[in-house]
Amino acid sequence: MKITDIAVPGYERVARCEDPASGLRAMIAVHSTALGPALGGLRMWPYRSWDEAQFDVLRLARGMTYKSAVADTGLGGGKSVILGNPKTDKSEALFRAMGKFVDAFGGKYITAEDVGTSVEDLVLVRKETRWATGLPREIGSSGDPSPWTALGVFRGIKACLEEVYGSGEFTGRTVAMQGLGHVGGFLAEHLAKAGARLVVTDLSPERAKEAATRLGATVVAPEAIYDVACDVFSPNALGAVINDDTLKRLKTKIIAGAANNVLLREEHGDRLREMGILYAPDYVINAGGIINVSIEVEKEGYDEARSRKKVENIYNALRTVFRMAREKNVSTNRASNLLAEERIARGRPAAAKV
Ligand code: NAD
Repeated sequence: MKITDIAVPGYERVARCEDPASGLRAMIAVHSTALGPALGGLRMWPYRSWDEAQFDVLRLARGMTYKSAVADTGLGGGKSVILGNPKTDKSEALFRAMGKFVDAFGGKYITAEDVGTSVEDLVLVRKETRWATGLPREIGSSGDPSPWTALGVFRGIKACLEEVYGSGEFTGRTVAMQGLGHVGGFLAEHLAKAGARLVVTDLSPERAKEAATRLGATVVAPEAIYDVACDVFSPNALGAVINDDTLKRLKTKIIAGAANNVLLREEHGDRLREMGILYAPDYVINAGGIINVSIEVEKEGYDEARSRKKVENIYNALRTVFRMAREKNVSTNRASNLLAEERIARGRPAAAKV
């Protein structure tokens, strides 16, 4: 196994790994450990070159630093990628080699599941390193992050309702939901239970129908979700759904969901502000999963009650972001970046440093 360090300005450590025996070609990027060890998922993707993989891993690692800083997880930001096709290139040897690569960072980088990798893959990684999280509950880990992400989004929507309407009450509010997958499914349940009216869509007609039967939701076609008159538009499927085309169609006061990279560009956040639509920045409102994992790496070990308390705090994190946006006269996405940068610059309290 050959590990080669690459000097990248602004990043603490970036390395490439080549292991001909297993076929592993991978990269790990530690953006910042200013607030704690760098946590971020392991992505497997058929990158066409090392350059393409590096571009992605650097971008994703930096994003994790910001997410963890605002979520106050006591963690820094990092990410790893395997260059390969997740449908055809997986093997036990590959993930065990990845485990050795992760271990070579000595706990500065902690990995988890991401696009193209599964819990089963991470179980193999864990055979070679203790720095792998988000594994099944049965082996003492924190399990599926989706219910936690959904809980965080639910609490986040409450903060949005308060900001816009002066009351966090769900009864009588209409939420238009795009996507009823792992997160969307749990979120729909929270919302229906709290009294919200749901208008839903999913590429899978069965999922949409199931929500209609079980939760009394109204179903619309996938393309029609942008035209629904609602209080909250909740994207829980894809990124880049707020763009020049959809901005013209939205009839909502709030955008708040779990999807990553909701805004096609940062400027779309500025446009939302001008239009009087409150945007809950994606990496703030969807941090429930990472918060849950962060509890796992605390000294005391994983504890569900501690996790719930911290995930519910997404409500306060968003209120801080909204206040900052008001005070600085900027969009909420820009305010959350400023908040993250302030916290990273301040660093960890001396007592928390190991
Ligand atoms: P998922 O794949 O389980 O669910 C996505 C759902 O969206 C599927 O049911 C799919 O059919 C539907 N969908 C896809 N394209 C659609 C379209 N054009 N219109 C309507 N429905 C469509 O994924 P998930 O784990 O629920 O994650 C949802 C989003 O939240 C993703 O963007 C993910 O990156 C983000 N996220 C998830 C977590 C987590 O804990 N799972 C954490 C943070 C962020």
